[in-house]
Amino acid sequence: SVARTDREIQELKQKYESMPLENEIKKFVDMPLSQKTLKGLLDSKYVVPTEIQRKSILTALKGKDVMGTAITGSGKTLAFLIPVIEHLYLNKWSRTDGVCAIVISPTRELAYQIFETLKRIGRYHDFSAGLIIGGKNLKFERSRMDQCNILICTPGRLLQHMDENPLFNATTIEMLVLDEADRCLDMGFEESINAIVEHFPTDRQTLLFSATQTNSVKDIARLNLLDPIFIGEKSKS
Ligand code: ADP
Ligand code: MG
Repeated sequence: SVARTDREIQELKQKYESMPLENEIKKFVDMPLSQKTLKGLLDSKYVVPTEIQRKSILTALKGKDVMGTAITGSGKTLAFLIPVIEHLYLNKWSRTDGVCAIVISPTRELAYQIFETLKRIGRYHDFSAGLIIGGKNLKFERSRMDQCNILICTPGRLLQHMDENPLFNATTIEMLVLDEADRCLDMGFEESINAIVEHFPTDRQTLLFSATQTNSVKDIARLNLLDPIFIGEKSKS
């Protein structure tokens, strides 16, 4: 019911004020997460968060920018998907409110995997989500993308839509995720990413994840993150 949702949102916001300490988190249920998200995680047998998840989720829920570094296979996908889903829920986004969050991923395969994970753990929520990864369905993507709260995109395809589709409205965007940033840069997407981010509101929250922390990853973080919390690796600048 509406009243119960409102009460849960108020309770979660209060819990954000005094976040549990990292070492108090043994399971996802120890985090201030909505019942719908906890249920979605449990369905997929996600019970114990990985280290990058424990650290990033608590920080991201507070609205801070995060630069997370952790090896491949360490669970970076949930480290950003959970904060994105919770942001939509706590801010009562509905399907028709436009695009709230953009996730940029280097390859179609990775974008597709993120999308599948999002649908699984987010199945009890009612946000809308779309994949913008190219292929044959440019028209379909274009007609649908404004109606998605969360877009999972490859850089080239997203930039193409932003350049060619004057109706695409980036002003509603509140969260940006740059996933596998080191790979994006290896694949030559630096300029595309900077061009994309130029269209986004500056008061958004940005989460950047990478397997390695190269100088070019630090550069793209410096350019696109605001006062970020570094997780996983100290910045040696
Ligand atoms: P990364 O992006 O860091 O390479 P992924 O997010 O792709 O890692 O996750 C790697 C694998 O670990 C996936 O199969 C995922 O389902 C699994 N996984 C992620 N988080 C957890 C967790 N908390 N408990 C169990 N398995 C997990
Ligand atoms: Mg990954």
